[in-house]
Amino acid sequence: MKPMKLMKEIASDIVSLVYPHICVGCGSVMPFGGGILCAECRADFDEPVLDRCPVCGRIIYHRGKCRSCNGTRLYFDRGHSVFEYKDNVRNAVLNCKYRNMKHIGRYFGEIMADYAEKNALCGFDMVTAVPLHKNRMRQRGYNQSDIPAAMVASRLNTPCVSALERVVDTKPQNFLSREERLKNIKRAFAVRDKEAIKGKSILLIDDIYTTGATVNECAKVLKKNGASRVEFLTFSCRAED
Ligand SMILES: [Zn+2]
Ligand SMILES: [Zn+2]
Repeated sequence: MKPMKLMKEIASDIVSLVYPHICVGCGSVMPFGGGILCAECRADFDEPVLDRCPVCGRIIYHRGKCRSCNGTRLYFDRGHSVFEYKDNVRNAVLNCKYRNMKHIGRYFGEIMADYAEKNALCGFDMVTAVPLHKNRMRQRGYNQSDIPAAMVASRLNTPCVSALERVVDTKPQNFLSREERLKNIKRAFAVRDKEAIKGKSILLIDDIYTTGATVNECAKVLKKNGASRVEFLTFSCRAED
């Protein structure tokens, strides 16, 4: 192992020893062994969910499909998200992604696996995570969706496969408009092994569903290469505005 990499690993181990006692939602200090969320944030996470788009699972405030499902060619068959991306959920997602708090992934994985079980998401041939580009992977040291994907797969008794590869190092989607996101993500993914996904039903895992550009692009590549069905499960989703 290269010294830099070793230092990073050690630093990340130390962080994961220290951080479990700080709430990943609001940053308050918690007693030892109290999980990763304080009682208040936990309550936020348990908030009952409002109406959902019957296609992508986005939180909506009207009947029928959400606007983005109505206006876009969709390649996935169905989507599911556990939480609304706001407040403490948002903090936890950002901490997991950008603050080197890898251990949050295990917590997300547990919640997503419970959700998958409770909502009978089954009958998949494989579970796969939305991949990071190797440059981003090198920077961050981990893909925040890998652990949840492995945990959901194991709960569903399904293999976890790295079916996709990110071939273009795209700009982060956060600050882009819907049109820019679509353009940015186009042709960013490729299938690793076409034979492995042929005729297969696949559950895609990601941390957040915003405009849907990323999962739809992944689903497109999977379908064009022979996958028979693609659904996704994300930890959080942005509500329709
Ligand atoms: Zn908190
Ligand atoms: Zn929708």
